[in-house]
Amino acid sequence: MDKLPVLAIISPCYNEEEVLPSTTQRLVALLDDMVQRGQVAQESRIVYVDDGSRDRTWELIEQYTQGGKVVGVKLAGNSGHQNALMAGMQSVVDWADAQITIDADLQDDIAVIPAMVRDYAQEGCDIVYGVRRERKTDTWFKRTTAQGFYKFMHHLGVKTVYNHADFRLMSRRATRQLLNYRERNLFLRGIVPLIGYKTAMEYYDRAERTAGESKYPLSKMLNFAIDGITSFSIRPVRLVLGLGGVFMLIALVMLVYVLVSYFSGRAVSGWASMILSIWFVGGCVLVGLGIVGEYIGKIYIEVKDRPRYNIEKIIKK
Ligand code: UDP
Ligand code: MG
Repeated sequence: MDKLPVLAIISPCYNEEEVLPSTTQRLVALLDDMVQRGQVAQESRIVYVDDGSRDRTWELIEQYTQGGKVVGVKLAGNSGHQNALMAGMQSVVDWADAQITIDADLQDDIAVIPAMVRDYAQEGCDIVYGVRRERKTDTWFKRTTAQGFYKFMHHLGVKTVYNHADFRLMSRRATRQLLNYRERNLFLRGIVPLIGYKTAMEYYDRAERTAGESKYPLSKMLNFAIDGITSFSIRPVRLVLGLGGVFMLIALVMLVYVLVSYFSGRAVSGWASMILSIWFVGGCVLVGLGIVGEYIGKIYIEVKDRPRYNIEKIIKK
């Protein structure tokens, strides 16, 4: 590669006024350093996507754009982490040769960014995954639920990179390809491995959030997990079908039992077991309906084909 690659470091920000000052300082220092060492082009930028923050996040971003190193993208409303990432990628794909996405709290170690760029520029990798070596800084709860989730996804046949979140480098052509996935129910971790191309992994230790609090409360995490499963696998619906089959077999056995009891003249005194089965079967039916409904809801959202986000303005000096 004779010309230096133009790099964009994309960071989604939702109410991040507390972390932005230190994040900006660290990212700008890193970028300057990489430019200095001749690893990336002068035109490389940090791109903040304001995901409809209600605090001073956008004012801060506007201020940083004055320095010339930061590009600000303002979404008209809160579209969620995954959509904010897509908006950021969409807005850089025309001028950046490669882009890296990283959460604004810099829990992911920015020290591996030069190694990621090296994998891209020298090894010709189109996708470089940042992978957490261990999860010591996460709470026990977050660690177990997250790892359980990835194992479950694996069982359902969804290919994800273990312990990889949304910290990754993608070349322009990989980004273009990703932007072709038009689905509303975005689960980037599941889509990116589908793209193919040459990939690499860089390992790091995940740090504590430096300031502010997690923008992913349990409810958002659960929604994200359900989306991740139902956007990639129809196995849960098959499971319901299988369960229905098993129940019918059981019912058949019950029928034989009932007939035998009847003709042998034994009194039926099974109220308890009866009422129990009614509740149990009713519950199973509802769960089945719920799972199917989840998919129908997905289809409903997809067919409307609404825009994923609405970019209000972009500030690029
Ligand atoms: N985020 C976003 N929109 C949202 C929620 C979160 O853009 O609706 C951003 C947030 O600003 C951060 C990243 O997504 O840059 C990850 O959020 P956070 O660090 O709170 O998640 P956690 O690390 O706790 O999973
Ligand atoms: Mg975080």
